[in-house]
Formats: sequence, structure tokens, C-alpha cells
Amino acid sequence: MYSLLIKNATVIDGSGKPGEILDVAIQGDEIVNIAKNINSSAENILDASGKYLTPGFVDLQNHSDSYWQIFDNPSLDSMVSQGYTTILVGNCGGSLAPLLTHEALLSVQKWHNLEAANINWQSFSEYVEQMSKTAFACNVASLVGYSTLRRGIVGDQIRSLEKNELAALKKALQQSLEAGAFGLSNGLSYAHEIIISELELFELAKIVKKYNALFSIHLRSEGGEIIEAVDEALDIAKNTEVNLKISHLKLRNENNWHKFEDLMGMLDTSYHQGVNVHFDAYPYDTVWQALYSYLPKWAIEGGRNIMLKHFSDPTQKNKILMHLNNSGVKFSGMQVASTANKLNFVGKTIGQIAKNLETSSEQAVLHLIANGGSEVLVFEKNLNSDQVNQIITHPLAFVGTDGAGFSANIKDKLVHPRCFGTATKFLKDVAASKAITLEEAIKKLTSGPAKKVGLKKRGEIKVGNFADLVLLDLPNVADKATYENPYQHSQGVNYVFVNGKAVVAEGKQTGDLPGYTLRRI
Ligand SMILES: [Zn+2]
Repeated sequence: MYSLLIKNATVIDGSGKPGEILDVAIQGDEIVNIAKNINSSAENILDASGKYLTPGFVDLQNHSDSYWQIFDNPSLDSMVSQGYTTILVGNCGGSLAPLLTHEALLSVQKWHNLEAANINWQSFSEYVEQMSKTAFACNVASLVGYSTLRRGIVGDQIRSLEKNELAALKKALQQSLEAGAFGLSNGLSYAHEIIISELELFELAKIVKKYNALFSIHLRSEGGEIIEAVDEALDIAKNTEVNLKISHLKLRNENNWHKFEDLMGMLDTSYHQGVNVHFDAYPYDTVWQALYSYLPKWAIEGGRNIMLKHFSDPTQKNKILMHLNNSGVKFSGMQVASTANKLNFVGKTIGQIAKNLETSSEQAVLHLIANGGSEVLVFEKNLNSDQVNQIITHPLAFVGTDGAGFSANIKDKLVHPRCFGTATKFLKDVAASKAITLEEAIKKLTSGPAKKVGLKKRGEIKVGNFADLVLLDLPNVADKATYENPYQHSQGVNYVFVNGKAVVAEGKQTGDLPGYTLRRI
């Protein structure tokens, strides 16, 4: 007797091959039979006539750790409700381990205030062990963040590493990979990674290659210097043969949009020359960003205290304002999503705040950064939606939320709607545009990212694989989250199974937490 039998679903198995009406039988956490008309008995039988059964979605660009949601909110509502059954965290240079010193944790402070966090691990292996004791709604895998490693060695200092420091960092990276990290992430545009040399990156990429793990890069620039930034990433992958994934690929600001053809051309050419490169993207034209990241590099080098000193020096402050003025960024239209303290600015545009303060939008930016803590996050609509669609449907693209699992009601804070609606918006958009087939779209959410990350027995509906499954009411699948009200679950996601257990049933979360902590080894 099976534990679950799903009957008459149109099975899209994730491989890209056309859907077919089949029955799928599950025993425990495993898919044990796939055939037409399975007539054995089962504890639970689900008639899925007219519905589409796909593998559970894999989000290889997730921040549920940096927002501390894996511990505060292990039901990861916004993820599972749109069909995600596995998330890869530790992205953009920040992971929650190893914590060589307490300062290592500052690498994720820009996303979440960790003062009240209860942390009882130091090494990556202790972290994975702690995670294994925690129940999550979906499976959780993690990269190791470069900023976390580096800050564990040099703390808040922003400088080149001494030989012995680099050796210590490489050792910590190796230990993390051996403890189950799926690869290394970099956040090259962030304050503590800006100065990392290509040579240092080469050294790390060589280690990652040795373990056949993932090398994930948040580019140094997604705007004015994007061509140079992609060139740097491709150069590393070409010379080390590392498995490269560029995070949240996009082209910011109207004055850079003309670089699109060159950008995509570079990626295509490199791939066809044998470079193992892919990228992820989300289907939205608005970014969610730390406000401080719009400041000139020199102003943020050295950390928050040095930055605040610059603000109080009239000459330096003027230089910063000039930079903001000349950046081509329209600050007045940006919307404040969250601040570290309650400033009542959430939901307001910077233009409105500037008006209230009787000052310019650029001055208001500095006011917000100085008074709102390091976590002032904003929404900025600065992407070209045609380019967003072309990027996400490109053969080298996977869908990645770059979001986190939030519950449906957080006060005083707006999160990007991509946290709730990435997969469902993507499916709705491609159904309308017909840019790619449904089977190709599902592959970008499932086996594509699963293979890239190196997940075993996940990403495809196949006998012997884990029973991570999604049942979709396809013509009705759509996102509902908006910038004004992001806390809205998608529609058309009827059932989500993680390791054979339902986390969503009849469109509602069950509260079950059957996710596993995954290790690369
Ligand atoms: Zn990033």
C-alpha cells in the first residue's frame, strides 16, 4: 500500500519533455511508481484530473537565512505557498556560518538586525547540525558566504588579506565545503567585498572547482560597469572551469539599458565556448535594495561608522551629494520598504520625505541612512520590463526569487512582492507571452536549478527521487502580491508536497514542517 497516490494528473516531469496524463505513487518521502492507471491501494488518494503535477520548485537564490526567517518563521509561508520545496540560502556573500569571530555575522546585518538572535554554532558543520534539528516547511541548503568568511578574519577592516589570512580563509572555505556547503557566494558590490582582487577570487574559485561546488556571484556592478563585472566573472570561470552562477542578472537604470545586447552576447559566446555559466532572474522590473548601496564606493568603504563621519564633514558630504546628483538615479520616486527603527517612513517615497523635511531628495537619502540604521531598504523601478522578460526566458536562465520566506502579516515593513509571487508570476507571464513552452518554464523552476546546485534526487518527477511535488490549477495560476500589499499568497497552487508530506493542501498551508537540511556531500 502506498502512502499517497496522485491520479490522472498531467505530469510535467521537469526534464523539459511534454506533459503526459499519469498516476504517481509515493511511499514515505520517495516517488516509487509512475504509470498510467495505478490501481493499488493507498492511505491517501488525490484525484488530480485537469491539474498539472510538477516537481517542487527549487529557489537557488534565496535569503531566508539573512532575514533570519529560517529560524523566526520556519513555515516559510511565502515560499511554499508559491510552490517552492527547496531553497538555497547563504547567497550574496552572507551566510550564517562559519562564525570564526562574532564579527562574521555582521555580513548579514544589512538584511536583518541580529541583536536578539540565539546563535549556538561556530563552524559550518555545527550550523548544519543545528539546522537539522530545526523543522522547516521546505528543504534548506546553504552556500558559504565570502563576506562571512572574510569578516571572520579581518572583522570590519576593509583591506587586502595578508598571506596567512588568505590561507586561513581558504581553510575555512574548504572545511565548510566538506561540512556540506553547496558552494561559495560572493557579494562583490557590498562594502566588505568591493576591494577583493580578481586574484583572490581565482584562488577561491580553484578550491570551489576542486569540490565541484557552485560559485555564485553577485556582480560588482549591475549598471554602469556591468560589462566589466560580467567579464571578470566569466574570466574566473573560463580559467578555473568553476561552475559559475550569476545572481539576479539585471541591467539597472535607463542610461544602461543600451548595453543589453552586448551583455547577453558575452554570456552566450562564453557558454558556447565551454564556460559553465548560468544566471538567475526574477520577473519584476523593480529592485529591492539597501539604500546605502547607492552611495559612492569610497564613502562606504570602512563600514558604517566611517560612513557616518563622512556625512558630518561638510566637504565629504557635498562630494557624496554630488555623486548622488550625477548618478542618474531618480531618488524621488523610490519607495521606502523598511527601516531598522520606526521612522514612519515605510511606504512613503523619498520625494515625499524630502518634501516633509523641506530638503532635496538626495539630502533625504542621507537623512534616512543616518537615522534609519543599516537596514533602510527601498524599492526602485529601474529595469526595462522587456529586458527582464528576455533575461528570464533565456536558455541560460533559472528563476530565482532573491527573496525570503515571510509569513503573511509583518507589520511596519514591506517586502518585495517577489517573496510571494516569483514562480506564479513567471508562470502567468510565460503563459501570456508564449516566449517559452510550459515544459521549458517548469524546467527553469525545477531540474535546471537542481542540477546547477548539485541537489541529489530532486528537481524531476522520477522513480527513486524525493517526493517534492506541486499540483497546479494552471490556467488560474497567478501572483497576487503587490508593492503596496505584498503579503498575499498566490492563487492556483493547490497542493505542495515536501518529502511526501503536504505543506499546502487545497490551497492552504497545513502547518507541517517536513523539510530536510541538505548537505552537498
Ligand atoms: Zn545579491
